Formats: sequence, structure tokens, C-alpha cells
Amino acid sequence: MRRTSKILQRHEGALQGSEIARLAERLVARLMIASTLSLPDVACRLGVHRVTVWEWVQRGWLPAIRVGHRYRVPQHIVGALLHPVDITTDPDGEWRCPAQRCRAAFGSAAALAAHLATAHLGE
Ligand SMILES: [Zn+2]
Repeated sequence: MRRTSKILQRHEGALQGSEIARLAERLVARLMIASTLSLPDVACRLGVHRVTVWEWVQRGWLPAIRVGHRYRVPQHIVGALLHPVDITTDPDGEWRCPAQRCRAAFGSAAALAAHLATAHLGE
């Protein structure tokens, strides 16, 4: 009897553990979606066609994560593309654009990479 209840307890613990894992997974997915933008949203904000954004993602120029069947772009990448730091006024920009006559700098390597691929496309 005591042994059975111990086994049951252990089984219950395992069930709770997997439930917690599933909850954590769902929470992470929600957080990821909350801090990212859909490709049509990115296209709208950057003022380009959504097919263009999709091509940037396909070519690895724009960092994106896959959530389900769709790609999503981290919001901070899009924000950095829209509001790059000017290194003449903010010398702390760590990732400076190496292109001549460009004064953009970014807080992350990913943002600089996306900038290089999109802003200097075809240079
Ligand atoms: Zn640049």
C-alpha cells in the first residue's frame, strides 16, 4: 500500500513536470512572438515590398526566426534599421557601418549585418 502510493506520487510528479515543460514552451513561444514582427509588418515599417523582405530572410541578410510555418524578425533589428545611431553624435555605437559616407552604427552585430544587406544593397 505504502509502496503503491509512493509510485503514484512519483508518477504525479512526472506528469506535473511535463506539464510545466509544456507551459514553459508555450510561454517562450509567446514571448518570441511578442518581441518579433511578421514579415508583412517588417515590410510596412521599412517601406519595402513584403516579397523583398522574404528574399532578404531567404538569403540570410535579415535575421529571422521561424515560428510555426512563418518567419518573424526580432523587433530590435527592425528598430535598429529604422533608427541607427549616428557615430558623430554617439561615439558609443559599437558596430559601425564600414561603408564610405555612411555614419550608421548599431548596438548589435546582427543589426549591422541587416543594415549592410539592406541599406547598401547593390553598392
Ligand atoms: Zn551603412
